[in-house]
Amino acid sequence: MRIKVALGTVLGVITLAWLAVMPAGTGMQPLVDAQGAATGCWQLRQQALYLTGLWSIGLMALALVLALRLPWLERPLGGLDQVYRLHKWAGIGAALAAIAHWGAKESSGWIKALWGRAGKPVHEAVLPWFTDARGFAKDLGEWAFYLLLALVAVTLLTRLLAYRPWRLLHRAMPLLFLALALHTLALMPLAFWAAPLGLLMGTLLATGSLAALWSLAGRVGRARSHAGRIHAVRALGDGGPQAPIEVVCALPAHWPGHCAGQFAFVRFDRAEGQHPFTIASAPGSLGTSEAGEPLLRLVIKPLGDYTRTLGQRLRVGQRVDIEGPYGRFDGRGRPDRLQVWVAGGVGVTPFLALLEARQPGAAPAQACAQPAHLHYCTRDATRDPLLARLRPLCAQAQPPVRLSVHDAALGQRLTPQALEDLGGPLDLWFCGPQGLGDALAAHSRGPRVWRMHRESFALR
Ligand SMILES: Cc1cc2nc3c(=O)[nH]c(=O)nc-3n(C[C@H](O)[C@H](O)[C@H](O)COP(=O)(O)OP(=O)(O)OC[C@H]3O[C@@H](n4cnc5c(N)ncnc54)[C@H](O)[C@@H]3O)c2cc1C
Repeated sequence: MRIKVALGTVLGVITLAWLAVMPAGTGMQPLVDAQGAATGCWQLRQQALYLTGLWSIGLMALALVLALRLPWLERPLGGLDQVYRLHKWAGIGAALAAIAHWGAKESSGWIKALWGRAGKPVHEAVLPWFTDARGFAKDLGEWAFYLLLALVAVTLLTRLLAYRPWRLLHRAMPLLFLALALHTLALMPLAFWAAPLGLLMGTLLATGSLAALWSLAGRVGRARSHAGRIHAVRALGDGGPQAPIEVVCALPAHWPGHCAGQFAFVRFDRAEGQHPFTIASAPGSLGTSEAGEPLLRLVIKPLGDYTRTLGQRLRVGQRVDIEGPYGRFDGRGRPDRLQVWVAGGVGVTPFLALLEARQPGAAPAQACAQPAHLHYCTRDATRDPLLARLRPLCAQAQPPVRLSVHDAALGQRLTPQALEDLGGPLDLWFCGPQGLGDALAAHSRGPRVWRMHRESFALR
């Protein structure tokens, strides 16, 4: 909902500002007049070219600002994972608007072929520095458009490219934005700059360009990065290839602290870069190291190429850079709603932190917490090392947390229909596999009033 509102607001404001500069009578005259001149067609094409171009660059500027991980954007949008969802949809919207912009440009050939050039408006005056740069700006825009489409396609078609090479390629986005900002500066009519639209686009282009330069300089999140070290590391359960590892990190005194349910970007290895992991301990629950450093826990499952061998490479004392904390997955809700938590596999990590925060003697941060019902979906309860920790945490939680285990090995699968029997409106907190999350989300839009809060484990 917030994503739709944010996108609608940006597009709406740009459209209103464009309406104020649109020539009176646009769209009112016939597309082709009695003399056979396609004046109306040409005029519509020109305005479509402007509007789609403005939408596209405006949404790209928004996507770049969102990629800066600004902490003050988390609150209105509901957490950094939601900021990234908006970033993704702004990128998709920018690509769709760019396709429409390209279509409007290409339509010139069809109009000429059908009715000729008669009625085609003359080129409008542009900013004086760019008077002779029309051809260059058009070519630059066209090439940047093709690259933009290719980058958006590999982002969405996740099978085409693994995460790591994709992340490297995605770093070219700020460069594309700068190219398209130059294209806009050089081709936007001079008359637009004197209107409120000029102020709006100038602000968007300047903000987007600053964000692009900030990203290219590698400064995103640097102010929130803290150098710590590994205090302890061990494999959980049978220590087999599927077993998660537990890493306890010691952080410097200037670590700002975290709230239960938050995550951080963690870098164990400079060459590999950062990975997001939930902080699977409540604030203060692990105390401090002998040197007085605050401790926090990560539980990492071998889900991919890097995490599969991580357990063998981590050593006590090794440096770890932790950027954060981020996120607003706090497991709370309105008192008139039932609190239902659903965890799948390693998606249980934020709930481990929330449960620790409910243990006797924990810091009193959960003042407005209510009783909750945790549904934990596991592949095989007999071999699940996290279940042994989960049971006592639920048994001692205050306010209480009821635990229901859904063991896939016994054919027990949680379905949205099962939650229907609970009755009453729900506050549903979900972290786990995409498929189950999508099924619950689809259901929460149905006839039952479910407010779904979802920690997305995918940032792409
Ligand atoms: C907010 C959040 C919290 C998470 N918390 C945990 C946790 O507590 N425990 C846990 O085991 N896993 C957690 N994950 C998932 C974890 O980040 C990925 O499993 C891990 O990064 C996979 O890396 P890989 O190179 O081994 O896998 P790959 O095979 O390279 O990638 C598998 C998938 O992991 C994701 N991924 C890979 N690298 C990154 C990256 N640098 N940044 C973002 N996503 C990436 C991509 O979606 C990719 O498709 C969390 C993810 C997010 C977004």
